[in-house]
Amino acid sequence: MIKKKFLLLAATLFSLLLLAACGGEEANGNTEQEDGKVQVVTTYSIVYDIVKNVGGDLVDIHSLAPIGSNPHEYDPLPEDVKKTTDADAVFYNGLNLEAGNAWFDKLMETAGKDGEDAPVFLMSDDVEAMYLTSEGNEGEEDPHAWLDVQNGIKYAENARDGLIKVDPENKEVYEENAEEYIAKLQALHDKAVEQFNQIPEEERVLVTSEGAFKYFSDAYGFQAEYIWEINQENQGTPEQITRIVDIINEKQITGLFLETSIDARSMEAVSEETGVPIMGDVFTDSLAEPGEEGDTYISMMESNINTIKEGLSK
Ligand SMILES: [Zn+2]
Repeated sequence: MIKKKFLLLAATLFSLLLLAACGGEEANGNTEQEDGKVQVVTTYSIVYDIVKNVGGDLVDIHSLAPIGSNPHEYDPLPEDVKKTTDADAVFYNGLNLEAGNAWFDKLMETAGKDGEDAPVFLMSDDVEAMYLTSEGNEGEEDPHAWLDVQNGIKYAENARDGLIKVDPENKEVYEENAEEYIAKLQALHDKAVEQFNQIPEEERVLVTSEGAFKYFSDAYGFQAEYIWEINQENQGTPEQITRIVDIINEKQITGLFLETSIDARSMEAVSEETGVPIMGDVFTDSLAEPGEEGDTYISMMESNINTIKEGLSK
């Protein structure tokens, strides 16, 4: 009996020692910063997802503007400043997306990432910019390039090149991931072309709250109409509502669309005034919450293709 108790005690002591040893090792070599992963910061959910597809298991990503929010305007939190300061790489959209209140430039400065050689990568590098045309915004770049999947492919290439620059040892992995992902994006683009070609060209008119569909419309043969051209302070003013109501009546538009990341009230007012129904929700500036339809770039674009195709088919 005594011998048994002693053995039990010894075994307990041994496991305690083992635990302590493992714990020690963990504290020394396995902290969040030193797990060997590339620490990445992205400005919003769509860039987050594209970088994640290219970086795979080799990256830890922190995305700044939360899912469902408007990345045009954002107030970085103390945690964002810390993560950006510690990041090995930062990926942003550019084309004026993160320009509201100059939040991105200010954050890069605070985080010491504003130097010429800072590992800060432009996802829209090589994208041919389109420009705003509404009064007061003329000549400014339109940020919504990702809504044309061919530009999404350029984003993936820029994510690949940025990751290779900060982590050259894993060049082959990034190249392989990117190749596989780009093949999926190419198939998605082809599907969009094929689906939209089934709608007569004169019926391809897309009315949304924000005029986010310039690149999309150019790629897939649509006319884009909107209540306001770009998310900023004045959204859904009486003048903007009157203007779009006139256009809808004049063009005999049969369906409207509402963006998932935008307050529904303006589009609902337009729908009420014109008697034209809202046909569905489309994704523009944000992915859906994880687990929901539209929670990846591919899934959000697929959802947009289906919603727009169904909404405009008679
Ligand atoms: Zn937008």
